[in-house]
Amino acid sequence: MNTAQKLDKIKSALPEQITLVAVSKTQSVQAIREAVKAGQQHFGENRVRELVEKAQALRDPSLQWHMIGHLQRNKVKHIAAFVSLIHAVDRFSLLEEIDRQAAKHKRVIPVLLQLKIAREASKFGLSELEILDLLQCEQTHALQNVEIKGLMGMASFTENRAQITAEFRRLNDFFYRLKADYELVIDKARFTEKSIGMSGDYKLAIRCGSTLVRIGSAIFGPRG
Ligand SMILES: *Cc1c(COP(=O)(O)O)cnc(C)c1O
Repeated sequence: MNTAQKLDKIKSALPEQITLVAVSKTQSVQAIREAVKAGQQHFGENRVRELVEKAQALRDPSLQWHMIGHLQRNKVKHIAAFVSLIHAVDRFSLLEEIDRQAAKHKRVIPVLLQLKIAREASKFGLSELEILDLLQCEQTHALQNVEIKGLMGMASFTENRAQITAEFRRLNDFFYRLKADYELVIDKARFTEKSIGMSGDYKLAIRCGSTLVRIGSAIFGPRG
């Protein structure tokens, strides 16, 4: 199957309201062009330099660029002008820097908070308690140029479908608990996104409430 056929196949399994982010990390600009030709507009990268280079090479204002990887504070300035959504915010200092850089460009940058759902010690992310603290704290409220749109999570690297499902459900449950049970400094009505699901587990993620799936290898083939 070519890229267009793979995209079609994935899209046919996605409910319409779910956004497909094509994860193009390590893939060529030409590969991205093929996906664009097939109608794909959302692309995800996990390295700042690659994200900037590809966005500049494609120069297409209809494309939406997602930063899906761990982000260092000193690199925010390179993407602040154009990034559509930053998925993996995992500390207040990063949120503050995104706000600062967004203000320079007179824009509001949408972000997601990364909830740690995987069992592995290596995965980044905040605990539920840390997210609660962040969403209840006046310092967060004071940030005018970031908008916290929801949560992002990465399941454990495992073949165990039951475990992956449990981890996605935990994110989904926590998302709704946040909206229902807590007094938050953010606008709950605009807290709408759950970024869960990759090539191997997006069908599970959809059943667990995903609103954004991040799919790489199932679209572009294996990474080199
Ligand atoms: C690489 C990556 C993906 C996509 O992974 P695939 O298994 O190729 O679909 C999704 N999310 C993040 C954060 C990634 O780094």
